[in-house]
Amino acid sequence: MPEKFHFECIDCNAAYPGDAIIYLCPACEALNSAGLPPRGVLKTVYQYERIRGLSPPDKLFEQLEQHHFLPLLPLKGIDSWPILRVGDTPLYKVENVAREQSEKPGSDDFELYLKDDSQNPTFSFKDRASALVSAWARENGILTLIAASTGNAGSSLAGICASQGQRAIIIVPAAAPLAKLTQILMYGAVLVPVKGTYDDAFDLSVQISGKHGYYNRNTAYNPLTIEGKKSVSFEIYRQLHQQIPDRIFIPVGDGVIYSGVCKGFEDLLNLGLIDRMPVLVAVQANGSSNLINNLKRTVFEAKPSKTIADSISVDVPRCFHMTAAYMEKYQGESVMVSDQEILEAALQLSHSTGIFSEPAAVAAYAGMLKYREQGLIPARSKNVVLLTGSGLKDLSAVQSSIHMPAPVEPDLVSFERMMV
Ligand SMILES: *Cc1c(COP(=O)(O)O)cnc(C)c1O
Repeated sequence: MPEKFHFECIDCNAAYPGDAIIYLCPACEALNSAGLPPRGVLKTVYQYERIRGLSPPDKLFEQLEQHHFLPLLPLKGIDSWPILRVGDTPLYKVENVAREQSEKPGSDDFELYLKDDSQNPTFSFKDRASALVSAWARENGILTLIAASTGNAGSSLAGICASQGQRAIIIVPAAAPLAKLTQILMYGAVLVPVKGTYDDAFDLSVQISGKHGYYNRNTAYNPLTIEGKKSVSFEIYRQLHQQIPDRIFIPVGDGVIYSGVCKGFEDLLNLGLIDRMPVLVAVQANGSSNLINNLKRTVFEAKPSKTIADSISVDVPRCFHMTAAYMEKYQGESVMVSDQEILEAALQLSHSTGIFSEPAAVAAYAGMLKYREQGLIPARSKNVVLLTGSGLKDLSAVQSSIHMPAPVEPDLVSFERMMV
């Protein structure tokens, strides 16, 4: 029987079998140098013709859904999947935001949907990738997983591994937000804070997994991190009653979420289920826009990042080349937002919807607001914002924009005085 899937290098097109541990394309990895986005990121490729043959076209999506999309997953079965509910997050249609205070006529009646991925087990989008990596490890008898992380990937792997009876080792730069470090410890993972940057943590984790045979979940380095994230696209397609949205706003750091979302819709395109791609809008913070700023450059230049949105604060995006290629192939768009715009959007989002997101996720929402302001969202178009993480993960980021009231005497008079 031919293999269900294989990996393909996005740079040299070399193919690799899907049944062994592989990270970057070995031939391209050998040419990589520090400070530049890695070459040799692998794409997971299926036998689309064979999957198309599984069912009549009008029943294919339901068939796939009934089988938990197993034909489109690099797994043998679904028994190794975590029991925690990963993905299947709500897609809310919010009427008020789309109508609110728009000055440009015509741009005030579009459809706006919020995909709330803070409703994952460890409260971020990263669980989609961790679940697939963990399931693959379980199918292949690997008991210890390792990741370098600035916070969410590590807390996610730690939580998913805890649910699967696996051991997780998480290498972090010592400055990661307290809530994320606390999560890692609560889930019982081995936490290794290093005196250095994320890149130092990354290199150390690769040395350790190479030497000890642990399975490495580093973002974009392990091709299943990209593959795991595509599940959101299938969900959005289902939640919109098998229609694709016109536009999806995606917060971008390394670009793995962007590439994963694109891969998901590309799979649907390859299966003939859709006939066009949504426009995927990459949103970065002004203070960390190394992906957007390098799209048109011939020589990559990394500027040091500084933004309150720590989850998208990235100097050298690990999935740069795949994301850039997808943006070119499918006419992706991009927009940048300032920290001030993120803070204002955070309040506006929470006030008007009851969803409290972390700054990186709010960046996507702020990007949507900017599009709206500039009249770039056509009437009646369907627009989705990916809200990728919970606001409880980084309380310090928003302290400057709220006012904590001073305590009052517990009597009516004091209450009424306070309310004037
Ligand atoms: C990791 C992360 C992102 C960015 O994802 P990339 O794949 O690095 O582009 C956005 N939001 C949250 C909450 C994240 O944890």
